Amino acid sequence: MQQITITTPDDWHLHFRDGDMLSETVPATARCFARAIVMPNLVPPVINATLAMEYKTRILAARPQGSHFPPQHLLLNRNDLLVGGIKPHNYCLPVLKRSSHQQALRKAVAGGSNKFFLGTDSAPHAKHAKENACGCAGCYSAWSALELYTQVFDELNALDKLEGFASFHGADFYGLPRNQSTVTLVKESWTVPGSVILPSGEPIVPFFAGQTVDWKINPV
Ligand SMILES: [Zn+2]
Repeated sequence: MQQITITTPDDWHLHFRDGDMLSETVPATARCFARAIVMPNLVPPVINATLAMEYKTRILAARPQGSHFPPQHLLLNRNDLLVGGIKPHNYCLPVLKRSSHQQALRKAVAGGSNKFFLGTDSAPHAKHAKENACGCAGCYSAWSALELYTQVFDELNALDKLEGFASFHGADFYGLPRNQSTVTLVKESWTVPGSVILPSGEPIVPFFAGQTVDWKINPV
């Protein structure tokens, strides 16, 4: 298959952070996900409804004009973190497990079970916070998340199960309507940039930086 069109997916678990970073992270997710559950583990933390509503307002303000509003464990195992020198940009929590665990996850999603749905856990940190003696956990996967899920389902010969995983099972689980719009991906290689510069001038290294992805979102 060279092209696939699915109902616009949602991201049911990710981290946007706050402040300047929102102008990078929110558009990167809004480019292909209709809705998101945003984990508000900020500093200082969101501890009441007022703070949560204020955070929501800041997120909505960072959406690109006209737009509506990825698990690494399918793609990588602990060798990708540890072999050939530690790779801090593949460090996430829960930490990557053995290849046998990765294969079990891939088998589960390829089977089409509605118990599994998409949540990228995209969790950016500035480059210096990852490349550090006490490096932060989290991978900034929003730049390539839907493309890499598609790549995994393609490798598993399970592209017919992608839409359920990405667009239906999560909405059904949360009792929300399924999205009405669609997104099309084409089988076309592109390279994830080596770094993304924040408005503050600080770089972030996105997940899969410098590596080739086989699927690309077809611009509308
Ligand atoms: Zn998380």
